[in-house]
Amino acid sequence: MNDFGVLGSVLGSTLSPCSHQEQIFHQIRDLVLTQRPVHPMHILRKPVLTFQARRFLDGFNGTVMFAVKSNPHEDVIRTLIQAGITCFDAASIEEVRLIRRLSQDVRIHFMHTVKTREAIREAYFDHQVRVFVIDTLDELHKILHETELASDLTIFVRLALPKNKDATVDFSAKFGATPKGAALLLHEARLVCSRLGIMFHPGTQSSNPEIFTKGLTVVADVIKRANVKVDCLDVGGGFPAPYPHRIIPDLSLFFQFIHDGVKAFGFEGMDLYCEPGRALVAEAGLLVTRVELRKDKTLYLNDGVYGGLIEAAKWAGEFAFPVACIPQDGSDVTEETALLPFRFCGPTCDSLDMMKGPFELPETIQEGDWVLIGMNGAYSNACRTDFNGFGQNKFISVDF
Ligand SMILES: *Cc1c(COP(=O)(O)O)cnc(C)c1O
Repeated sequence: MNDFGVLGSVLGSTLSPCSHQEQIFHQIRDLVLTQRPVHPMHILRKPVLTFQARRFLDGFNGTVMFAVKSNPHEDVIRTLIQAGITCFDAASIEEVRLIRRLSQDVRIHFMHTVKTREAIREAYFDHQVRVFVIDTLDELHKILHETELASDLTIFVRLALPKNKDATVDFSAKFGATPKGAALLLHEARLVCSRLGIMFHPGTQSSNPEIFTKGLTVVADVIKRANVKVDCLDVGGGFPAPYPHRIIPDLSLFFQFIHDGVKAFGFEGMDLYCEPGRALVAEAGLLVTRVELRKDKTLYLNDGVYGGLIEAAKWAGEFAFPVACIPQDGSDVTEETALLPFRFCGPTCDSLDMMKGPFELPETIQEGDWVLIGMNGAYSNACRTDFNGFGQNKFISVDF
């Protein structure tokens, strides 16, 4: 368990704005006992999301974009806009449409390096998207053709970074140009765009802020090779969330490394952007699941890796999500209740649908009790499927 004990462990870390962890836990418990959810239930804690947005907006010397894919729920987007986020990183035309439907004013950057022609055209002509990313010449040609040689384009060139061993998922394996290729792309794009940018994405849940210094070092090298004026710099996402048993530096240290690098390489004149997903939304989300069967130290839950728990399997071996039990009879789980390490099985018939944890829960837990899974706001409801007929779920937003 972490410092908050059994009850408070699922409510996130000390970063939470609320010091009354126990009171909040009781509010959530009462909500569950009133709703008695039969299907998985996602809870969004809006004040936590607002608090995290403020940390980014106050701490980062540039524009904070939200990476929509990490949690595209409308309540998330609306709360972020209310908190002052004015720019969104979309990767598909559906994400572009979603953001534009919710706000006519915010800016949208279309940040996937492989876009369909139809998506480029619709984004430009129907949704006022002016910012696109490329990592090949072919994609640049697609954008120019589909926007009919628009004169108001911002083109970002995406760089692949050397392998990031400090991130759990390394995105440079799939996207980005080599330094040499990126220099050529900058050169070509400069001739046709109104504003030119360069970007990288260090991979998700980066534990070491030095990854940003490394990224900026490559950026400096590429700009030097290209020998063209670059107007914008986007350092991507990948900021970590403080999951239990993971010692990660505070967000402010990541900002400091970025700001120091910007200064050291003389990038102060460029418009600076970052694209956090996980670090903005992870702590604001909780998932309520129900135990459908207990076999010794295995709990069969009504949700799993094809639902809101893909990350519980993906991170196995690194850490387990914080969990707490809400007994169906409303009885209290106290600090004295003995805990056992459990593993979870999801509801589908696929044997991939297992999460080894270990998840520390009361030894008395039984069928019908609910398991509250904390720090579950990122890549959870975003990744749900209907596989095997288990897609039903509920989403509610709360003001505490
Ligand atoms: C997924 C993604 C992000 C967000 O990553 P997090 O690890 O959730 O912060 C940002 N930028 C790009 C290009 C991405 O693909």
